[in-house]
Amino acid sequence: MWPSRKAKPKRSEDPDLFGHPGWENETPILTAHAAVEFVLAGKAKITLRSEKTGKHYTFKIRKSDGESWFVSRLTGGNCYRYLGTIFPDGFRSTRKSEHLKYHWLKESFDAFDWFWRRLNQDQAIPQGVMLFHAGRCAACGLELTDPASIKIGFGPDCAKKRLQRPFMCVR
Ligand SMILES: [Zn+2]
Repeated sequence: MWPSRKAKPKRSEDPDLFGHPGWENETPILTAHAAVEFVLAGKAKITLRSEKTGKHYTFKIRKSDGESWFVSRLTGGNCYRYLGTIFPDGFRSTRKSEHLKYHWLKESFDAFDWFWRRLNQDQAIPQGVMLFHAGRCAACGLELTDPASIKIGFGPDCAKKRLQRPFMCVR
């Protein structure tokens, strides 16, 4: 699915590669439109899983004050490592990207980079990849309880607000 790294990480270094509790209860996001909306909503948390390798990574995407979004990856517990930034012209590393220092993070950087590029180029969720949300509203971060909200990944108020503005497209 995404480029594989040469050296395998030690288990202690890369716990998320081996699963975080409860990820199998997450809800799939099924369309490219929904995926872009979700990722750019402000407080999104998503899990990407490769159907081929069974590997999965969880990412947090926070909107900055401007038109950019900080992407970091869950590495165990509640610890996130910063990978890069989504700019209007694409996702890339910045000076503080932690995979530049910790090479075991590189594969998850490549995974997100590949996913985001394919998603925007093809306007489709790449084949062989499943995308999940963890039951929290992508815009405000509150827990979702209503089945309809869980299905779309937004609480009722945030969903209403989002319907009032045009669909955002970021490459
Ligand atoms: Zn919300």
